[in-house]
Amino acid sequence: MKPVNEIHLRFQSHSVNEGFARAAVAAFASQLDPNIEELADLKTAVSESVTNCIVHAYPHSVGEIFLWAGLFADGTVKVRIRDRGVGIPDVRQAMEPLFTTLGGERAGLGFAVMESFCDRVRVHSRVGKGTSVTLVKRIAGRDADA
Ligand code: ATP
Ligand code: MG
Repeated sequence: MKPVNEIHLRFQSHSVNEGFARAAVAAFASQLDPNIEELADLKTAVSESVTNCIVHAYPHSVGEIFLWAGLFADGTVKVRIRDRGVGIPDVRQAMEPLFTTLGGERAGLGFAVMESFCDRVRVHSRVGKGTSVTLVKRIAGRDADA
């Protein structure tokens, strides 16, 4: 299925850009007329994924983050967040709740949050090459609240 609208963003892994990415995706997805909860959930999921690029993918440097978002005719929004950072050796383990490689600093709940706030989360990663996270969320919209 082809998106009816899409955007590409490319930004540096400065922590201030987490807020930029979250706001940009929310502004874009607002075309689907989401309700407040759907929008908040999408923003939180994007925020977790972009934060992972900032703190894990490029731990000692500033790297590039590539974000693509697409809107589909069935009311689905897809957001792909990609980095060219260190990669994840074991994706299944990384996605387990409470698993973190930054113990003490982090809770290990980012992927769990993404999974609970989205309908689907896909992760592909290659060590030394980078990671790609795809979030899929169906937007029922404000009409569904009525
Ligand atoms: P929290 O999100 O609760 O602050 P966390 O970031 O450690 O803690 P998750 O977001 O669930 O927890 O990520 C789990 C682990 O997966 C991380 O500790 C890290 O090792 C790895 N990881 C996640 N995203 C990336 C990424 N983009 N690049 C490299 N490693 C990643
Ligand atoms: Mg995280």
